[in-house]
Amino acid sequence: MLIKTTAGLYCSRGNFYIDPSRGVEHAVITHSHADHARRGSKKYYCVQSGVGLLRERIGKNISVESHNYGEKFFLNGVELSFHPAGHILGSSQIRMQFENETWLASGDYKREPDPTCEPFEVVSCDVFVTEATFGTPSFAWPKGKDLGKEIFQWWQDNAEQGFNSVLFAYSLGKAQRVLGVLQPYAKKPIFCHPAATGLNQCYREQGILLAETQCLSEVQTIDPLKRELFLVPQSFLQSPQAPLLGEKFKTAFASGWTAQSTYGIDKGFVMSDHADWNDLVRTVKDTGARRVYVQHRGKGALVRHLKSLGIAAFPEEDLIPKNPDQMSFF
Ligand SMILES: [Zn+2]
Ligand SMILES: [Zn+2]
Repeated sequence: MLIKTTAGLYCSRGNFYIDPSRGVEHAVITHSHADHARRGSKKYYCVQSGVGLLRERIGKNISVESHNYGEKFFLNGVELSFHPAGHILGSSQIRMQFENETWLASGDYKREPDPTCEPFEVVSCDVFVTEATFGTPSFAWPKGKDLGKEIFQWWQDNAEQGFNSVLFAYSLGKAQRVLGVLQPYAKKPIFCHPAATGLNQCYREQGILLAETQCLSEVQTIDPLKRELFLVPQSFLQSPQAPLLGEKFKTAFASGWTAQSTYGIDKGFVMSDHADWNDLVRTVKDTGARRVYVQHRGKGALVRHLKSLGIAAFPEEDLIPKNPDQMSFF
């Protein structure tokens, strides 16, 4: 069904790519992060709830065909459908069926609850192509924490001590998840980086409840006695607007990497949008796949572990065709 090419995963039978790294004719998109959604393709296919983000990220005028989760559609006889991946709003696993064989490409995914996106759905398949961004056993996230309460408490503690709070988070996905978990707690607007404003709007248009926000591009001065919360990328500290943060502020990072590195930052909130080791292994088992291809950094450890469990597992490089005839169409 799928082979790995220089432009990404390609289905020759259906003549489409999944998250191609360059412009192609038919691009099936798992989600709108920059390493998955790129400009230049003639036609894009994504889930309905992800269209706004895709246009916001790569262009208002792209040609997009969208489908609801679970809805079947066909590309040159290959049956496709999108299924929630739980990673960010509109993130999808892509199910492909031709004749009696079913493949599933996971895209990025997580199994933890997230108020800003549809929960991960287990999809059974014959062959599973899985991400493994955090594919070593050392990655294990604490589960079941109320991150909204923790972040709010940190903000209040800083305020009592006379500090503003500055939370660093990636503009797409992470920032909205922070706003989503804070929504039940926050009693006043959170100052957001301009890069997040349009993205926040896309989430709200899909009915996702986010805490109230104010865009930093709309403010000239901020009362240093108000003890605000700022949600910005780390690069904001070097920007001309950085003085808005005031003289006294505490910093924190919301990231899956927090467990690994908090150098120079006051606090870390472990908030990953990827499955940890246990959830990767669990997900592979849940799909019932008889063959598994593993993408990204952690593939070596995960491939070895799956093999030890009796699952036929391979690194994604094994999807590169060995027969040069097969190379002719890309
Ligand atoms: Zn992603
Ligand atoms: Zn990714």
